[in-house]
Amino acid sequence: MNLIEARGLAIRFGGREVLQHVTLDIHPGEIVTVVGPNGSGKSTLLRALVGAIRPDAGEVRRAPGLRVGYVPQRLHIDPSLPMTVRRFLDLPNRVSDAEAHAALSQGDVGSLWHQPLASLSGGQFQRVLLARAILGRPQVLMLDEATQGLDQPGEAAFYRQIEAIRDQIGCAVVMVSHELHVVMSASDRVICLNGHVCCEGTPAVVSAAPEYRALFGTGTGGALALYRHQHDHDHSGHVHDGHDHDAHDHDHHHHDHKAHDHA
Ligand code: ADP
Ligand code: MG
Repeated sequence: MNLIEARGLAIRFGGREVLQHVTLDIHPGEIVTVVGPNGSGKSTLLRALVGAIRPDAGEVRRAPGLRVGYVPQRLHIDPSLPMTVRRFLDLPNRVSDAEAHAALSQGDVGSLWHQPLASLSGGQFQRVLLARAILGRPQVLMLDEATQGLDQPGEAAFYRQIEAIRDQIGCAVVMVSHELHVVMSASDRVICLNGHVCCEGTPAVVSAAPEYRALFGTGTGGALALYRHQHDHDHSGHVHDGHDHDAHDHDHHHHDHKAHDHA
């Protein structure tokens, strides 16, 4: 059974169609990344999938009783509010100390228990949001640009944490990100969105797709080049130049390395 199924989804704001003909499934345990330009409807899609907004056409079906953890793109918290990390986890529902401790540990922020929220760095705050989102042991974890404001090592560490959480609690992960090079390597599937689903598939297939290239470019200094460099290391004894691989060729590289990385 799929956890979430969207069929022919359309969302309009004030008569303007922001999403149209979006059909997709979220399967148990997979890591799906949604990429797309600013304003392409990524946040709107996540909000529709969690049920925060109703589609104007089509439908979203969620498995009965589906547990979803959601980290929205923007969460405004009054910095003058005197609240510790521990207390924050009690909002909106109180949780036991044991649950709070487990979630903070899984987010790798167990040491922040007594810290006032206002004193946290951006990266620490994102991890606390992540901890809060996994409190209810979600079957699907939705993250909307959760690494915004982190530096590149911070992003990479954050995605490794997400993978570890997925492995521990077995949830599917749906995330929106701009950090293509990091995200691509950590995803099972990528959905490229621009009001509609432009293309979708494994990271290798999507990064080779003309629709994706049209949106994100293919320059050697760009995200795609970085993505290739991460994956094209050493196994064959020569360095790939990152040019002129067709989708099939590229797919092979990816699977070879995935087997090594995740064996
Ligand atoms: P992304 O997350 O890909 O940057 P969004 O889903 O936030 O894109 O927004 C897609 C489009 O919908 C944008 O043009 C945005 O201005 C518009 N939009 C989003 N939410 C609302 C809303 N609540 N009311 C009106 N317009 C909205
Ligand atoms: Mg957004």
